[in-house]
Amino acid sequence: MRFFLSLLLGVSFYLAQSQTNSDPYINKSLIKVHSINQAIIDSLSEFNVIPISCRASMLESDLIVDSLTIAWLNHHNIPFSIIQNNMAKMIDLEMDNIEKRQYQRSTNWYSVYRELDEIEDKIDDIIASSVNQETGYITKIIIGQSYEGRDIWAIKLSSANGTYPNPKPAIVINGGQHAREWITPMATTYLIEHLPELYYSNSNWNIFLNEVDVYIIPVVNPDGYVYTWEEDRWWRKNRQINIGSDCVGTDLNRNWDFDWNGEQSTSENPCSDIYVGSAPFSAFETSVVSQYISSIPNLVNHIDVHNYSSLIVGPWSSSDEPTEDNDEIFCLGTQMQAAVSNTNDYPYLFGTGTVNNLLYLISGGMVDWIYGGLSSLSFLYELRPASLYYFDSDWNGLLAFDNPEEEILPVCEEFLQGVKEMIKWTYFQNCEVATGCSDPEAENYYCNTLEGEMGCLYTVDFNAPPQENGAYNLLEYSLPLGFIDDGSCIYSSSIESLSQNKFIIKTIDMLGRKSSKKGLYLEIYNNGTVEKKYIN
Ligand SMILES: [Zn+2]
Repeated sequence: MRFFLSLLLGVSFYLAQSQTNSDPYINKSLIKVHSINQAIIDSLSEFNVIPISCRASMLESDLIVDSLTIAWLNHHNIPFSIIQNNMAKMIDLEMDNIEKRQYQRSTNWYSVYRELDEIEDKIDDIIASSVNQETGYITKIIIGQSYEGRDIWAIKLSSANGTYPNPKPAIVINGGQHAREWITPMATTYLIEHLPELYYSNSNWNIFLNEVDVYIIPVVNPDGYVYTWEEDRWWRKNRQINIGSDCVGTDLNRNWDFDWNGEQSTSENPCSDIYVGSAPFSAFETSVVSQYISSIPNLVNHIDVHNYSSLIVGPWSSSDEPTEDNDEIFCLGTQMQAAVSNTNDYPYLFGTGTVNNLLYLISGGMVDWIYGGLSSLSFLYELRPASLYYFDSDWNGLLAFDNPEEEILPVCEEFLQGVKEMIKWTYFQNCEVATGCSDPEAENYYCNTLEGEMGCLYTVDFNAPPQENGAYNLLEYSLPLGFIDDGSCIYSSSIESLSQNKFIIKTIDMLGRKSSKKGLYLEIYNNGTVEKKYIN
């Protein structure tokens, strides 16, 4: 009995002593300050206040505060509402839930959030099993070390096949800049698993991924990620010490060398969640990742994935001015938006800059550095949910960084659909076939094209004199017009409508998209024989 008692005491002593990631939130509340203004923010900066949104600004964000802050707000008659008055309990419930699910080993890997070593094991398993399919398609590269010495990895998907000249167009996708956004390493790992599956098993995707290299950096900030599991659930920054300050960490998404320490949502205070660091790339992690991305030849597209807000955001992040590539950014952005939103009927928005005042601008962000510094298109994804908190039957006030586990898989699936749009776009860009009907000469020119829509429509007047490159006569041709192969891209075409003097040609690429290839070269079947004629 004595032994049993001492064992019990030992256990409770251990529990009392052991640090959990909810400890920093004991006696903390989540509040919304109404009619907040800069003067209130300046005053609040003297208190222990944590803004909770990804693009952190006290102006828009809900805030985690302590009792001293609440007393100050009450004393000054500043109206606020309490969203959740027991933050530590909420985290403990989440961690209990995760622990329970982790013991159910039969569950799908994406049914529970995973710790860093689990993510690494999963990726190693994917790479090991891929050797059975095609040795060398997936490779894992250690690109450098974090401040605390953890490896930062990139997973490269690159085929030895394909026809595009080397270096092939490349896409980079990274997650986990912000430590507490646990859905993002899940989403990047999902890509590492499912893009190779598409490449191996789907003939269209085999073609696309033969021609486009994809680099995935699943966890940019491993130190912060581990810290959120072990010490502080809502830690955002890296874990680098700041000389002359007791406060730790740099906000990695303020530390990129573009408009660094500009005036948009930045802080020079090392205690701030949006601390810019001592210099551009002063953080180990941004230094390592920026050097690696700079070394990738022919980088054309990029995604930096965060949560929450259900948004896709193109450059600029630091300004509402349109970029030189605004048309392209809007075409691809709205295509990705539609693909992501349609996957599970969960709406995402797309925009640039402040996204019609939904967001505030940020300086020193990764997207602006990639676009402005490396001349590649670049997008920021803010995955689900759309708003900070919501309610369910078990526990009201679940927080955004804690998407319920049932939603991990749907979020990963919709993210994959957005990435697939980017890969297709990159593939077609390189073969000079627009994915939308972007030919201004077509009758239905419109850049925001969805899969399955009608093709570009051209009206050809056969009363006009024959062109030099081939005479034609409407009455000679019979349906169907067949496949067109110009050597790099394949698409099909058919007569859309027929009248006495005109016919309209519809062109559709292999995915059912509109095509706007100029200098259309038609392979025309005429009574069983094949003629080839230029149409324009
Ligand atoms: Zn973030």
